[in-house]
Amino acid sequence: MSRKVLIVGGVAGGASAAARLRRLDEEAEIIIFERGEHISYANCGLPYYVSGVINERDALLVIKPEAMRNRFLIDVRIYSEVTRIFPEEKVVEVQEQSGKVYRESYDQLILSPGAAPLRPPIPGIKDIEALVVRNVTDIDLIKRTIDEQQPKTAAVIGGGFIGLEMAENLHARGVETTIIEMSNQVMAPFDYEMAAILHEHIFNKGVNLILDDGVKSFAKTEKGTLITLQSGEEVQADLIIMAIGVKPEIKLAKEAGLTIGDLGGIKVNERLQTSDPNIYAVGDVIEVKHIVTGQAVLLPLAGPANKQGRIVADVIVGRDSQYKGTQGTAIAKVFDLAAASTGANEKMLRKLGIPHEVSFTHSNSHAGYYPGATRLSIKLIFDRSNGRILGAQAVGAQGADKRIDDIAGLIRQQGTVYDLQELELAYAPPFSSAKDPVNMAGYVAENIINGDVRMIQWQELSKLKAKDICILDVRDIEERRGKFIPGSLHIPINDLRSHLAELPQDKEIVVYCEVGLRGYLAYRILTQHGFAKVRNLSGGWLTYYPAVFG
Ligand SMILES: Cc1cc2nc3c(=O)[nH]c(=O)nc-3n(C[C@H](O)[C@H](O)[C@H](O)COP(=O)(O)OP(=O)(O)OC[C@H]3O[C@@H](n4cnc5c(N)ncnc54)[C@H](O)[C@@H]3O)c2cc1C
Repeated sequence: MSRKVLIVGGVAGGASAAARLRRLDEEAEIIIFERGEHISYANCGLPYYVSGVINERDALLVIKPEAMRNRFLIDVRIYSEVTRIFPEEKVVEVQEQSGKVYRESYDQLILSPGAAPLRPPIPGIKDIEALVVRNVTDIDLIKRTIDEQQPKTAAVIGGGFIGLEMAENLHARGVETTIIEMSNQVMAPFDYEMAAILHEHIFNKGVNLILDDGVKSFAKTEKGTLITLQSGEEVQADLIIMAIGVKPEIKLAKEAGLTIGDLGGIKVNERLQTSDPNIYAVGDVIEVKHIVTGQAVLLPLAGPANKQGRIVADVIVGRDSQYKGTQGTAIAKVFDLAAASTGANEKMLRKLGIPHEVSFTHSNSHAGYYPGATRLSIKLIFDRSNGRILGAQAVGAQGADKRIDDIAGLIRQQGTVYDLQELELAYAPPFSSAKDPVNMAGYVAENIINGDVRMIQWQELSKLKAKDICILDVRDIEERRGKFIPGSLHIPINDLRSHLAELPQDKEIVVYCEVGLRGYLAYRILTQHGFAKVRNLSGGWLTYYPAVFG
């Protein structure tokens, strides 16, 4: 007898599971229930429709219900919300838009209901139109509001990747935009000093970025919405976009008695089975294991949701397929920069007490002598005891994507900084350097592990008092002009050997240059000339400046 599989949610995880299931089992009866109007839409492309970068609305609809029916013989039921699950009977209750309610039985049920945008009960929120961005209907509303009301100002609440993408696209439409972020940085998966590079860029693009300040209240006024912040500052905006994060849609699962994890996502095993063996769950609604820390996490990303959809179909037809975990590889376009990350960040590792070391490199995206190279900043996080790579973040106008993907591949394979050095990557001057930026990151990390250089991080240095140490700038005079650490001594690297007598023997010397390389050379010179306490500023001025002064 053929199996009957019901799927709740027809987008990333749900549509992927349905299509794979059909490819593996021509006989199965497959029904997708989707609460909204569309299935398989391009959530990730929605912000770009606002500015017209994605011009055709149809381009957002990856596959329409008719095509899913015709090509995959899948019964797609839109405007159909699954309102209850009866696990004992293996039946769900469905409510159509017309109000009609009916029941449908299953052999296996796949839940892929995703995560809903958060709408905290901020005073006044009910009186204003705070728009969210989750689906095509939401973006239609935002676009229509802009077209019809021609707002002059917008406030985007939340500086995560959806908030930044919306801010960029509103700005491109000529709307004066303010981003309001409660924490001290945008893009939570990044550590502060890498996000600080983005802060400077966003500011230079003419978007008002307010950090470290949450919304206290909203009030409808004749001039639009008045937003009062915790600090007392006020922002007036014609259009409000809420993008402060998402919450797994667990109502159905909870009411059905399925086990919910501590983070508020559905608990599943490696076969993506919930606590009921006939019910599977995938995508933003589940808690997954972080492959670096081993901890349960919520990582709402399209790649994992699609992969899990495929795996669950395999499992249902009896294949030995498993989901091993998520590492959070992600990328976002932030105006002219790309910000990409993978694995664990330092904040996460500190919180869990996992020992780690970091390095910063600011390489050229391709050979410096070939026109058009831009700066690519990479933060590498690794385990000093064995060199294992724990995470990485990259920010730059070109090439951040491929470098993070290289490192992501190694993290999956439990690779080390030594593996990073050995990666043999495609090279010609327009594309890269003979020593690719990721090879360089591996070399710097090895120098740290071997003790060839002792580093000091920007946070540590900013806590030290200038009188207790000697900060030595080894850059050229042109680089130093107006841009230096206050109180630092200046001896360019080429003059260092002839000026050693000017340096104190009794104080720690912290050397720095633009990116860390000349600082490393200075470190080697000084330590071999008997200076016992020397450290090199990790990532040099280019890491220190945005983090401390940005
Ligand atoms: C604006 C935006 C930009 C994004 N950009 C990126 C990006 O660049 N990269 C990236 O990796 N990820 C991105 N994401 C995240 C990515 O889209 C999600 O991780 C992914 O779509 C999750 O897939 P899912 O199947 O779990 O849920 P979804 O894709 O959200 O699908 C869930 C569907 O289930 C339906 N549903 C819920 N409950 C019921 C019910 N009871 N009955 C019937 N239907 C129901 C919902 O209507 C919804 O359509 C973005 C998300 C958004 C909103």
